[in-house]
Amino acid sequence: MTATATTKTSQEQRLYSVADWYDAEALLSTAERQVLGRLRDFLDAEAKPLLAEYWEKGEFPEQLARPLIDLDLMEPAHLTVEAPARGIYHGFRIFELARTDASLATWYTAQAGLFRTAIRVGASEEQQKEWMPKVIDFSLKGVFSLTEPEHGSDIAGGLSTTARYEEDPDGGTGSGAWVLDGAKRWIGGAATADVLCVFARDVADGQVKAFLVDRTAPEVSLEKIQGKTSLRMMQNAHITLNNVRVPEAMRLHNVNSFKDVAAMLRAMRSDVAWIAAGIQAGAFEAALAYVKERQQFGRSLGSFQLVQEKLARMLGNVTASLSLVVRLTEQQGWGIYRDQDSALAKMQTSLMMRETVALAREVVGGNGITLASDVARFHADAEAVYSYEGTHEINALIVGRALTGASAFTH
Ligand SMILES: Cc1cc2nc3c(=O)[nH]c(=O)nc-3n(C[C@H](O)[C@H](O)[C@H](O)COP(=O)(O)OP(=O)(O)OC[C@H]3O[C@@H](n4cnc5c(N)ncnc54)[C@H](O)[C@@H]3O)c2cc1C
Repeated sequence: MTATATTKTSQEQRLYSVADWYDAEALLSTAERQVLGRLRDFLDAEAKPLLAEYWEKGEFPEQLARPLIDLDLMEPAHLTVEAPARGIYHGFRIFELARTDASLATWYTAQAGLFRTAIRVGASEEQQKEWMPKVIDFSLKGVFSLTEPEHGSDIAGGLSTTARYEEDPDGGTGSGAWVLDGAKRWIGGAATADVLCVFARDVADGQVKAFLVDRTAPEVSLEKIQGKTSLRMMQNAHITLNNVRVPEAMRLHNVNSFKDVAAMLRAMRSDVAWIAAGIQAGAFEAALAYVKERQQFGRSLGSFQLVQEKLARMLGNVTASLSLVVRLTEQQGWGIYRDQDSALAKMQTSLMMRETVALAREVVGGNGITLASDVARFHADAEAVYSYEGTHEINALIVGRALTGASAFTH
Protein backbone atom coordinates (compact mmCIF):
# COMPACT_ATOMS: atom_id res chain seq x y z
CA MET A 1 0.00 0.00 0.00
CA THR A 2 1.26 3.45 -0.78
CA ALA A 3 -1.00 5.50 1.40
CA THR A 4 -0.16 9.15 1.08
CA ALA A 5 -3.15 10.94 2.56
CA THR A 6 -2.12 13.98 4.48
CA THR A 7 -5.43 15.77 4.89
CA LYS A 8 -8.65 14.79 6.54
CA THR A 9 -11.68 13.74 4.51
CA SER A 10 -14.21 16.48 3.99
CA GLN A 11 -17.55 15.97 5.75
CA GLU A 12 -19.43 15.59 2.43
CA GLN A 13 -17.03 12.90 1.24
CA ARG A 14 -17.10 10.82 4.41
CA LEU A 15 -18.42 7.29 4.14
CA TYR A 16 -18.11 6.62 7.86
CA SER A 17 -19.17 9.67 9.79
CA VAL A 18 -19.11 8.12 13.27
CA ALA A 19 -17.59 4.63 13.27
CA ASP A 20 -14.31 5.80 11.72
CA TRP A 21 -13.63 8.31 14.48
CA TYR A 22 -10.03 9.07 13.52
CA ASP A 23 -10.74 9.34 9.79
CA ALA A 24 -8.77 6.31 8.56
CA GLU A 25 -10.73 6.61 5.35
CA ALA A 26 -8.60 9.64 4.51
CA LEU A 27 -6.16 7.01 3.23
CA LEU A 28 -8.58 6.13 0.43
CA SER A 29 -8.31 7.81 -2.97
CA THR A 30 -11.34 9.50 -4.52
CA ALA A 31 -11.67 6.65 -7.04
CA GLU A 32 -11.56 4.03 -4.26
CA ARG A 33 -14.15 5.96 -2.28
CA GLN A 34 -16.42 5.99 -5.35
CA VAL A 35 -16.29 2.20 -5.68
CA LEU A 36 -17.10 1.84 -1.99
CA GLY A 37 -19.92 4.36 -2.35
CA ARG A 38 -21.45 2.23 -5.11
CA LEU A 39 -21.16 -0.81 -2.86
CA ARG A 40 -22.84 1.13 -0.02
CA ASP A 41 -25.76 2.12 -2.30
CA PHE A 42 -26.24 -1.46 -3.42
CA LEU A 43 -26.12 -2.86 0.10
CA ASP A 44 -28.58 -0.28 1.42
CA ALA A 45 -31.08 -0.68 -1.42
CA GLU A 46 -30.85 -4.36 -2.34
CA ALA A 47 -29.28 -6.31 0.52
CA LYS A 48 -30.52 -4.78 3.76
CA PRO A 49 -34.22 -5.46 3.10
CA LEU A 50 -33.48 -9.20 2.73
CA LEU A 51 -31.16 -9.85 5.65
CA ALA A 52 -33.54 -10.63 8.49
CA GLU A 53 -35.73 -12.93 6.38
CA TYR A 54 -32.83 -14.95 4.94
CA TRP A 55 -31.02 -15.14 8.27
CA GLU A 56 -34.14 -16.65 9.81
CA LYS A 57 -34.57 -19.09 6.91
CA GLY A 58 -30.90 -20.06 7.11
CA GLU A 59 -30.43 -19.48 3.38
CA PHE A 60 -28.11 -17.29 1.37
CA PRO A 61 -29.99 -14.70 -0.75
CA GLU A 62 -28.66 -15.99 -4.07
CA GLN A 63 -30.31 -13.11 -5.93
CA LEU A 64 -27.59 -10.85 -4.47
CA ALA A 65 -24.70 -12.94 -5.79
CA ARG A 66 -24.69 -11.83 -9.44
CA PRO A 67 -25.24 -8.11 -8.78
CA LEU A 68 -22.49 -8.16 -6.11
CA ILE A 69 -20.09 -9.82 -8.55
CA ASP A 70 -21.06 -7.31 -11.24
CA LEU A 71 -20.04 -4.45 -8.97
CA ASP A 72 -16.48 -5.45 -9.93
CA LEU A 73 -15.14 -4.99 -6.42
CA MET A 74 -12.15 -7.31 -6.49
CA GLU A 75 -9.99 -5.43 -8.99
CA PRO A 76 -12.25 -2.55 -10.07
CA ALA A 77 -11.45 -1.70 -13.69
CA HIS A 78 -11.44 2.04 -13.18
CA LEU A 79 -8.97 1.76 -10.30
CA THR A 80 -6.57 -0.52 -12.10
CA VAL A 81 -6.21 1.91 -15.02
CA GLU A 82 -3.97 4.04 -12.84
CA ALA A 83 -2.59 1.52 -10.34
CA PRO A 84 -3.63 -1.84 -8.90
CA ALA A 85 -6.22 -1.67 -6.14
CA ARG A 86 -4.40 -1.09 -2.87
CA GLY A 87 -4.56 -2.98 0.40
CA ILE A 88 -6.41 -0.16 2.10
CA TYR A 89 -9.13 -0.35 -0.55
CA HIS A 90 -9.45 -4.13 -0.13
CA GLY A 91 -9.65 -3.65 3.64
CA PHE A 92 -12.39 -1.04 3.48
CA ARG A 93 -14.30 -3.18 0.96
CA ILE A 94 -14.37 -5.96 3.56
CA PHE A 95 -15.23 -3.43 6.29
CA GLU A 96 -18.16 -2.06 4.27
CA LEU A 97 -19.57 -5.54 3.59
CA ALA A 98 -19.20 -6.63 7.22
CA ARG A 99 -20.69 -3.37 8.47
CA THR A 100 -23.84 -4.44 6.65
CA ASP A 101 -23.74 -8.17 7.27
CA ALA A 102 -21.15 -10.70 8.39
CA SER A 103 -22.43 -13.47 6.09
CA LEU A 104 -22.19 -11.22 3.03
CA ALA A 105 -18.63 -10.29 4.01
CA THR A 106 -17.74 -13.95 4.59
CA TRP A 107 -19.33 -15.02 1.31
CA TYR A 108 -17.41 -12.42 -0.70
CA THR A 109 -14.17 -13.07 1.16
CA ALA A 110 -14.41 -16.83 0.51
CA GLN A 111 -13.65 -16.01 -3.14
CA ALA A 112 -11.79 -12.68 -2.92
CA GLY A 113 -9.73 -13.63 0.13
CA LEU A 114 -9.48 -17.38 0.74
CA PHE A 115 -9.62 -18.78 -2.78
CA ARG A 116 -7.77 -15.91 -4.42
CA THR A 117 -5.01 -16.14 -1.81
CA ALA A 118 -4.76 -19.90 -2.33
CA ILE A 119 -4.18 -19.33 -6.04
CA ARG A 120 -1.87 -16.32 -5.54
CA VAL A 121 0.35 -18.14 -3.04
CA GLY A 122 -0.04 -21.73 -4.21
CA ALA A 123 -0.35 -21.74 -8.00
CA SER A 124 2.65 -21.69 -10.35
CA GLU A 125 3.11 -18.68 -12.62
CA GLU A 126 1.61 -20.59 -15.52
CA GLN A 127 -1.37 -21.76 -13.47
CA GLN A 128 -1.95 -18.24 -12.19
CA LYS A 129 -2.01 -16.88 -15.73
CA GLU A 130 -4.80 -19.31 -16.56
CA TRP A 131 -6.82 -19.13 -13.36
CA MET A 132 -6.40 -15.71 -11.79
CA PRO A 133 -8.54 -13.73 -14.30
CA LYS A 134 -11.32 -16.28 -13.76
CA VAL A 135 -10.97 -16.00 -9.99
CA ILE A 136 -11.25 -12.22 -10.21
CA ASP A 137 -14.38 -12.25 -12.40
CA PHE A 138 -15.88 -15.20 -10.46
CA SER A 139 -16.09 -17.42 -13.56
CA LEU A 140 -14.04 -19.92 -11.55
CA LYS A 141 -15.57 -20.04 -8.09
CA GLY A 142 -13.57 -21.83 -5.44
CA VAL A 143 -13.50 -22.53 -1.72
CA PHE A 144 -10.78 -23.24 0.81
CA SER A 145 -11.08 -26.78 2.17
CA LEU A 146 -8.63 -27.20 5.01
CA THR A 147 -10.51 -28.02 8.25
CA GLU A 148 -11.51 -31.63 8.90
CA PRO A 149 -14.11 -33.23 11.18
CA GLU A 150 -11.38 -34.46 13.56
CA HIS A 151 -8.83 -31.69 13.04
CA GLY A 152 -9.53 -27.97 13.51
CA SER A 153 -6.91 -26.15 15.59
CA ASP A 154 -4.39 -28.97 15.16
CA ILE A 155 -4.78 -29.19 11.40
CA ALA A 156 -1.09 -28.50 10.68
CA GLY A 157 0.07 -31.74 12.25
CA GLY A 158 -3.23 -33.59 12.21
CA LEU A 159 -4.44 -33.21 8.62
CA SER A 160 -5.47 -36.71 7.62
CA THR A 161 -7.03 -36.43 4.14
CA THR A 162 -4.68 -38.40 1.90
CA ALA A 163 -3.37 -37.92 -1.64
CA ARG A 164 -1.83 -40.87 -3.46
CA TYR A 165 -0.24 -40.52 -6.88
CA GLU A 166 -1.18 -43.33 -9.27
CA GLU A 167 0.63 -43.85 -12.52
CA ASP A 168 -1.54 -44.21 -15.60
CA PRO A 169 -3.07 -47.69 -15.36
CA ASP A 170 -2.86 -48.03 -19.18
CA GLY A 171 0.91 -48.11 -18.99
CA GLY A 172 1.91 -44.56 -19.73
CA THR A 173 -0.43 -43.35 -22.47
CA GLY A 174 -1.95 -40.81 -20.08
CA SER A 175 -0.37 -38.80 -17.28
CA GLY A 176 -1.56 -40.55 -14.12
CA ALA A 177 -3.55 -38.86 -11.38
CA TRP A 178 -3.77 -38.12 -7.68
CA VAL A 179 -6.35 -40.04 -5.67
CA LEU A 180 -7.84 -38.17 -2.71
CA ASP A 181 -9.58 -39.70 0.31
CA GLY A 182 -10.90 -38.07 3.45
CA ALA A 183 -13.37 -35.53 4.79
CA LYS A 184 -13.53 -31.76 5.24
CA ARG A 185 -15.77 -29.75 7.55
CA TRP A 186 -17.14 -26.21 7.76
CA ILE A 187 -16.24 -25.35 4.19
CA GLY A 188 -17.92 -22.01 3.42
CA GLY A 189 -19.66 -21.60 0.06
CA ALA A 190 -18.84 -25.14 -1.13
CA ALA A 191 -22.31 -25.93 -2.47
CA THR A 192 -22.13 -23.22 -5.16
CA ALA A 193 -18.41 -23.48 -5.97
CA ASP A 194 -16.95 -24.85 -9.21
CA VAL A 195 -13.88 -26.24 -7.48
CA LEU A 196 -12.85 -27.11 -3.93
CA CYS A 197 -9.27 -26.25 -3.05
CA VAL A 198 -8.57 -29.37 -0.98
CA PHE A 199 -5.50 -29.77 1.21
CA ALA A 200 -4.33 -33.37 1.51
CA ARG A 201 -1.26 -35.20 2.80
CA ASP A 202 0.83 -36.93 0.17
CA VAL A 203 1.27 -40.50 1.40
CA ALA A 204 4.65 -40.70 -0.34
CA ASP A 205 6.46 -37.84 1.42
CA GLY A 206 4.02 -36.97 4.25
CA GLN A 207 3.77 -33.32 3.10
CA VAL A 208 0.57 -31.30 2.67
CA LYS A 209 -0.33 -30.48 -0.94
CA ALA A 210 -3.28 -28.65 -2.51
CA PHE A 211 -5.63 -29.75 -5.28
CA LEU A 212 -8.49 -28.13 -7.19
CA VAL A 213 -11.23 -30.74 -7.05
CA ASP A 214 -14.29 -30.60 -9.29
CA ARG A 215 -17.17 -30.02 -6.87
CA THR A 216 -19.55 -32.05 -9.07
CA ALA A 217 -17.35 -35.17 -9.31
CA PRO A 218 -19.40 -38.25 -8.35
CA GLU A 219 -16.81 -39.21 -5.70
CA VAL A 220 -17.40 -35.91 -3.88
CA SER A 221 -20.39 -35.58 -1.58
CA LEU A 222 -21.54 -32.45 0.20
CA GLU A 223 -23.82 -32.11 3.17
CA LYS A 224 -25.09 -28.76 4.42
CA ILE A 225 -24.28 -28.13 8.09
CA GLN A 226 -27.70 -27.60 9.65
CA GLY A 227 -28.90 -25.82 12.74
CA LYS A 228 -26.28 -23.07 12.97
CA THR A 229 -27.00 -20.26 15.42
CA SER A 230 -24.40 -17.96 13.88
CA LEU A 231 -23.79 -16.79 10.30
CA ARG A 232 -27.01 -18.53 9.33
CA MET A 233 -27.07 -17.04 5.84
CA MET A 234 -23.63 -18.37 4.97
CA GLN A 235 -23.71 -22.00 3.92
CA ASN A 236 -21.08 -24.38 5.27
CA ALA A 237 -20.54 -27.93 4.10
CA HIS A 238 -19.31 -31.23 5.39
CA ILE A 239 -17.47 -32.79 2.44
CA THR A 240 -16.60 -36.42 1.85
CA LEU A 241 -13.93 -37.36 -0.71
CA ASN A 242 -13.98 -40.98 -1.68
CA ASN A 243 -11.29 -42.01 -4.19
CA VAL A 244 -11.51 -38.73 -6.13
CA ARG A 245 -9.10 -38.59 -9.07
CA VAL A 246 -7.39 -35.25 -9.71
CA PRO A 247 -4.95 -34.66 -12.58
CA GLU A 248 -1.48 -33.31 -11.78
CA ALA A 249 -2.39 -30.13 -13.71
CA MET A 250 -4.96 -29.37 -11.02
CA ARG A 251 -2.47 -29.58 -8.17
CA LEU A 252 -1.22 -26.18 -6.95
CA HIS A 253 2.41 -26.49 -7.87
CA ASN A 254 3.79 -24.11 -5.25
CA VAL A 255 2.28 -25.88 -2.26
CA ASN A 256 4.84 -28.40 -1.03
CA SER A 257 4.35 -28.41 2.73
CA PHE A 258 2.18 -26.90 5.47
CA LYS A 259 4.55 -23.90 5.51
CA ASP A 260 3.01 -22.83 2.20
CA VAL A 261 -0.48 -23.17 3.71
CA ALA A 262 0.62 -21.04 6.68
CA ALA A 263 1.63 -18.29 4.23
CA MET A 264 -1.97 -18.32 2.95
CA LEU A 265 -3.43 -18.20 6.46
CA ARG A 266 -1.34 -15.13 7.28
CA ALA A 267 -3.09 -13.11 4.57
CA MET A 268 -6.52 -14.51 5.38
CA ARG A 269 -6.33 -13.67 9.08
CA SER A 270 -5.82 -10.02 8.19
CA ASP A 271 -9.02 -10.10 6.12
CA VAL A 272 -10.90 -11.57 9.06
CA ALA A 273 -9.58 -8.81 11.32
CA TRP A 274 -11.16 -6.33 8.87
CA ILE A 275 -14.42 -8.32 9.09
CA ALA A 276 -14.30 -8.11 12.91
CA ALA A 277 -13.79 -4.34 12.67
CA GLY A 278 -16.69 -3.99 10.20
CA ILE A 279 -19.10 -6.01 12.34
CA GLN A 280 -18.37 -3.70 15.26
CA ALA A 281 -19.03 -0.63 13.13
CA GLY A 282 -22.40 -2.04 12.03
CA ALA A 283 -23.46 -3.02 15.54
CA PHE A 284 -22.31 0.28 17.04
CA GLU A 285 -24.07 2.41 14.42
CA ALA A 286 -27.32 0.46 14.84
CA ALA A 287 -27.14 0.76 18.63
CA LEU A 288 -26.38 4.48 18.49
CA ALA A 289 -29.34 5.17 16.21
CA TYR A 290 -31.61 3.16 18.51
CA VAL A 291 -30.64 4.88 21.78
CA LYS A 292 -31.08 8.31 20.24
CA GLU A 293 -34.62 7.37 19.26
CA ARG A 294 -35.92 5.21 22.11
CA GLN A 295 -37.41 7.04 25.09
CA GLN A 296 -37.56 5.81 28.71
CA PHE A 297 -38.31 7.87 31.81
CA GLY A 298 -39.34 10.64 29.41
CA ARG A 299 -35.85 10.97 27.90
CA SER A 300 -33.86 9.29 25.15
CA LEU A 301 -31.82 6.27 26.26
CA GLY A 302 -28.77 7.99 24.83
CA SER A 303 -29.05 10.79 27.38
CA PHE A 304 -28.37 8.46 30.34
CA GLN A 305 -24.84 8.38 31.71
CA LEU A 306 -24.65 4.59 31.92
CA VAL A 307 -25.71 4.25 28.29
CA GLN A 308 -23.19 6.87 27.17
CA GLU A 309 -20.40 4.94 28.90
CA LYS A 310 -21.34 1.89 26.80
CA LEU A 311 -21.41 3.96 23.61
CA ALA A 312 -17.94 5.28 24.41
CA ARG A 313 -16.59 1.77 25.01
CA MET A 314 -18.07 0.57 21.72
CA LEU A 315 -16.55 3.51 19.87
CA GLY A 316 -13.22 2.86 21.57
CA ASN A 317 -13.28 -0.75 20.39
CA VAL A 318 -14.23 0.12 16.81
CA THR A 319 -11.59 2.83 16.64
CA ALA A 320 -8.86 0.62 18.10
CA SER A 321 -9.80 -2.24 15.74
CA LEU A 322 -9.81 -0.01 12.69
CA SER A 323 -6.49 1.58 13.66
CA LEU A 324 -5.00 -1.89 14.11
CA VAL A 325 -6.10 -3.27 10.74
CA VAL A 326 -5.15 -0.09 8.89
CA ARG A 327 -1.63 -0.21 10.31
CA LEU A 328 -1.33 -3.96 9.62
CA THR A 329 -2.42 -3.39 6.02
CA GLU A 330 0.06 -0.58 5.68
CA GLN A 331 2.87 -2.90 6.87
CA GLN A 332 1.78 -5.61 4.45
CA GLY A 333 1.90 -3.03 1.66
CA TRP A 334 5.59 -2.67 2.47
CA GLY A 335 6.01 -6.42 2.09
CA ILE A 336 6.09 -7.24 5.81
CA TYR A 337 4.08 -10.42 6.48
CA ARG A 338 4.57 -12.17 9.81
CA ASP A 339 2.38 -14.87 11.37
CA GLN A 340 2.30 -13.08 14.72
CA ASP A 341 1.11 -9.79 13.17
CA SER A 342 -2.02 -11.13 11.51
CA ALA A 343 -2.64 -13.50 14.44
CA LEU A 344 -2.51 -10.55 16.85
CA ALA A 345 -4.89 -8.53 14.67
CA LYS A 346 -7.38 -11.38 14.33
CA MET A 347 -7.20 -12.17 18.06
CA GLN A 348 -7.55 -8.61 19.33
CA THR A 349 -10.20 -7.35 16.91
CA SER A 350 -12.29 -10.47 17.58
CA LEU A 351 -12.00 -9.99 21.31
CA MET A 352 -13.15 -6.39 21.02
CA MET A 353 -15.87 -7.44 18.57
CA ARG A 354 -17.36 -9.77 21.13
CA GLU A 355 -17.56 -6.97 23.68
CA THR A 356 -18.89 -4.43 21.17
CA VAL A 357 -21.74 -6.59 19.87
CA ALA A 358 -22.69 -7.56 23.45
CA LEU A 359 -22.83 -3.90 24.49
CA ALA A 360 -24.84 -3.04 21.36
CA ARG A 361 -27.31 -5.79 22.13
CA GLU A 362 -27.51 -4.67 25.75
CA VAL A 363 -28.42 -1.04 25.05
CA VAL A 364 -31.16 -2.12 22.63
CA GLY A 365 -32.80 -4.13 25.43
CA GLY A 366 -35.35 -6.79 24.52
CA ASN A 367 -35.51 -5.62 20.93
CA GLY A 368 -31.82 -6.47 20.73
CA ILE A 369 -32.61 -10.17 20.53
CA THR A 370 -35.05 -9.88 17.64
CA LEU A 371 -34.10 -9.78 13.98
CA ALA A 372 -36.05 -6.53 13.66
CA SER A 373 -32.95 -4.85 15.04
CA ASP A 374 -29.66 -5.31 13.20
CA VAL A 375 -27.75 -5.75 16.45
CA ALA A 376 -29.27 -9.20 17.04
CA ARG A 377 -27.78 -10.48 13.77
CA PHE A 378 -24.39 -8.93 14.46
CA HIS A 379 -24.45 -10.33 17.99
CA ALA A 380 -25.14 -13.88 16.81
CA ASP A 381 -22.84 -13.76 13.78
CA ALA A 382 -19.85 -12.50 15.74
CA GLU A 383 -19.52 -15.91 17.40
CA ALA A 384 -18.62 -17.70 14.15
CA VAL A 385 -16.11 -15.00 13.23
CA TYR A 386 -14.59 -15.33 16.71
CA SER A 387 -13.84 -19.01 15.97
CA TYR A 388 -12.97 -19.18 12.28
CA GLU A 389 -9.56 -18.46 10.78
CA GLY A 390 -7.85 -19.51 14.00
CA THR A 391 -9.57 -19.39 17.37
CA HIS A 392 -8.63 -16.87 20.05
CA GLU A 393 -6.39 -19.41 21.77
CA ILE A 394 -4.56 -20.50 18.64
CA ASN A 395 -3.84 -16.93 17.55
CA ALA A 396 -2.73 -16.09 21.10
CA LEU A 397 -0.34 -19.06 21.02
CA ILE A 398 1.14 -17.83 17.72
CA VAL A 399 1.77 -14.44 19.33
CA GLY A 400 3.08 -16.09 22.50
CA ARG A 401 5.53 -18.18 20.50
CA ALA A 402 6.87 -15.04 18.80
CA LEU A 403 7.22 -13.25 22.14
CA THR A 404 8.95 -16.02 24.08
CA GLY A 405 10.53 -18.21 21.45
CA ALA A 406 8.76 -21.18 23.07
CA SER A 407 6.00 -23.00 21.22
CA ALA A 408 3.14 -23.86 23.55
CA PHE A 409 1.34 -25.96 20.94
CA THR A 410 1.30 -29.48 22.26
CA HIS A 411 2.33 -32.05 19.67
C1 LIG B 1 -18.77 -20.47 10.26
C2 LIG B 1 -17.49 -21.13 10.02
C3 LIG B 1 -16.90 -21.08 8.76
C4 LIG B 1 -15.71 -21.75 8.49
N1 LIG B 1 -15.21 -21.77 7.22
C5 LIG B 1 -14.13 -22.55 6.93
C6 LIG B 1 -13.68 -22.68 5.58
O1 LIG B 1 -14.23 -22.08 4.66
N2 LIG B 1 -12.61 -23.48 5.35
C7 LIG B 1 -11.96 -24.17 6.33
O2 LIG B 1 -11.00 -24.89 6.04
N3 LIG B 1 -12.39 -24.07 7.63
C8 LIG B 1 -13.45 -23.28 7.94
N4 LIG B 1 -13.89 -23.16 9.26
C9 LIG B 1 -13.21 -23.93 10.31
C10 LIG B 1 -12.50 -23.09 11.36
O3 LIG B 1 -11.30 -22.60 10.86
C11 LIG B 1 -12.34 -23.96 12.60
O4 LIG B 1 -13.63 -24.02 13.20
C12 LIG B 1 -11.33 -23.43 13.59
O5 LIG B 1 -10.04 -23.59 13.08
C13 LIG B 1 -11.42 -24.14 14.94
O6 LIG B 1 -11.45 -25.52 14.80
P1 LIG B 1 -12.58 -26.38 15.53
O7 LIG B 1 -13.89 -25.73 15.29
O8 LIG B 1 -12.41 -27.79 15.08
O9 LIG B 1 -12.29 -26.25 17.07
P2 LIG B 1 -11.24 -27.11 17.98
O10 LIG B 1 -9.90 -27.13 17.32
O11 LIG B 1 -11.86 -28.41 18.33
O12 LIG B 1 -11.16 -26.20 19.25
C14 LIG B 1 -12.15 -26.13 20.26
C15 LIG B 1 -11.67 -25.18 21.36
O13 LIG B 1 -10.46 -25.67 21.94
C16 LIG B 1 -9.46 -24.67 21.88
N5 LIG B 1 -8.12 -25.27 21.70
C17 LIG B 1 -7.71 -26.14 20.73
N6 LIG B 1 -6.41 -26.43 20.88
C18 LIG B 1 -5.96 -25.70 21.94
C19 LIG B 1 -4.69 -25.55 22.60
N7 LIG B 1 -3.60 -26.18 22.16
N8 LIG B 1 -4.62 -24.73 23.67
C20 LIG B 1 -5.71 -24.06 24.11
N9 LIG B 1 -6.94 -24.15 23.54
C21 LIG B 1 -7.05 -24.97 22.47
C22 LIG B 1 -9.83 -23.81 20.71
O14 LIG B 1 -9.23 -22.53 20.79
C23 LIG B 1 -11.34 -23.78 20.84
O15 LIG B 1 -11.72 -22.82 21.80
C24 LIG B 1 -15.06 -22.46 9.54
C25 LIG B 1 -15.63 -22.47 10.82
C26 LIG B 1 -16.82 -21.83 11.07
C27 LIG B 1 -17.40 -21.90 12.45
